[in-house]
Amino acid sequence: MSAEPPAGASLDELRTAAADCRGCQLWEPATQTVFGRGPADAVMVLVGEQPGDVEDQRGAPFVGPAGRLLVGALEEAGIDKTSVYVTNAVKHFRFEQRGTRRIHQTPDVSHTAACVPWLRAELAVVRPSLVVLLGATAAKTLLGQDFRVTRQRGQLLDGPPGSGARLMATVHPSSILRTPPESRDEAHAAFVADLRTARAALTS
Ligand code: SF4
Repeated sequence: MSAEPPAGASLDELRTAAADCRGCQLWEPATQTVFGRGPADAVMVLVGEQPGDVEDQRGAPFVGPAGRLLVGALEEAGIDKTSVYVTNAVKHFRFEQRGTRRIHQTPDVSHTAACVPWLRAELAVVRPSLVVLLGATAAKTLLGQDFRVTRQRGQLLDGPPGSGARLMATVHPSSILRTPPESRDEAHAAFVADLRTARAALTS
């Protein structure tokens, strides 16, 4: 079945429909569709790239190492983690099997294009005031392939006309995990600063 979210569906109905999605080839080797989680009336939605190894097995977004880093950063920025809706641009884990290990592979444009109807459907139900795009894949999915997180991170941008939402891009928390130890504190602080900007945007 393709990535055609049922019109007028609730988040639960979308989650159920997405479980059977065959909109691109990523469903086959992955364990399951990992749909978004959080309150349906969240004012902030966080969008990552795709589920990782742990998320693929547990069926929930941001429950692995990057998720733990994100939760800590949200706390430092004064954002209640239970108040935000978290999801990914792509709902299945893309990986390369090497022996017993599953190595993350960045989804390509065909995957984000196939999967974006689910993200748009989530945003249409939640109708947040702010969408925080975590990393290049999420940012390019909603802001176009020319968007560069390195140039425009932390900037508040207008969302699609009529959406009532603003957008802000920052890095993906997994990039901080990959940062060399001598620069990691600085990278983490910059990430928290972007999240503080996001929190402030909700009251401005
Ligand atoms: S990645 Fe998205 S479009 Fe592709 S099969 Fe999974 S849910 Fe469908």
